[in-house]
Amino acid sequence: PIQEAKFIWKNGEMIPWAEATTHVLTHALLYGTCAFEGIRAYDTPHKGTCVFRLEEHTKRLFYSARIYGIGIDYSEAEVNEAILRTVRENELKSAYIRVNAYLGYGEMSPSATGCPDDLVIAAFPWGRYLGAEAIEEGIDACVSSWRRTAQGTLPAGAKVAGNYLSSRLITTEAKVRGMVEGIGLSHDGTVSEGGGENLFIVKDGRVLTPPLASSILGGITRDTVLTFLNDMNVEVVEQAIPRELLYGCDELFMTGTAAEVTPVRSVDGLAVGGGNQERPVTKEVQKRFFGLFDGTTEDEHDWLRPVKG
Ligand code: PMP
Repeated sequence: PIQEAKFIWKNGEMIPWAEATTHVLTHALLYGTCAFEGIRAYDTPHKGTCVFRLEEHTKRLFYSARIYGIGIDYSEAEVNEAILRTVRENELKSAYIRVNAYLGYGEMSPSATGCPDDLVIAAFPWGRYLGAEAIEEGIDACVSSWRRTAQGTLPAGAKVAGNYLSSRLITTEAKVRGMVEGIGLSHDGTVSEGGGENLFIVKDGRVLTPPLASSILGGITRDTVLTFLNDMNVEVVEQAIPRELLYGCDELFMTGTAAEVTPVRSVDGLAVGGGNQERPVTKEVQKRFFGLFDGTTEDEHDWLRPVKG
């Protein structure tokens, strides 16, 4: 269950958590028309509570909303400020933040233009998404029998609620099979992404990750990791990845706001790296990532926004 906080920001006002409700005929509920962001705030020892990559998340929200004609009646700067305020006024030290820009109640039909543009921001406490041990030990994953949406069907690069029907199928199937997460293949059979994470493969000292055209969401954690790998002078290739590389790679890890940087230790019952769990590249990336939040990594890319100005 969600650990409730006190207030939710809705259309410019802070309202009590329990009053943040919507009509049952809300357009987003009928048709999935809700652009959203999942963002984390970390409790850092040196800068207090900080939102990670705030501006990039807000930019992606506007991008996703624009594709579906969902209006946002605020500027990016106003949304950034409202997000910081929501964490601050709920007095949360660390939080998962959910921002929803959606078509509200007012008109029926997929192409409706008369629905209100609603914007809500919730923040609440949340722990490790893939389990407490996952970050250290890695998770067991499987390739899903469900394919990701093909190019020209539903755009995977827009983060909208409707796309998460694909995640639900992939993740639920994985759990039924006793796995922690499922990996979706693109329509062409190449590797796409996890149910809610991007994927990175380490093979012979190089890092491979699927390109945007492999029906992935352009993850902000993915971008963070690409930046780290560049800082580390590791060669990275964004390329279509054949499924068999999942079984024949040296290291495999998943990235996402919820999953953070989580190693995958097996795929379809085969041990990643032939059971070699040393994972030097994954470990260095994890060190840089988690170091941002405990102050052991310099925030040289200016990714932390303190909630208290
Ligand atoms: N792919 C999917 C399908 C996701 O839901 C997420 C999580 N938002 C990601 C990738 C990772 O994106 P980010 O790093 O921006 O959280």
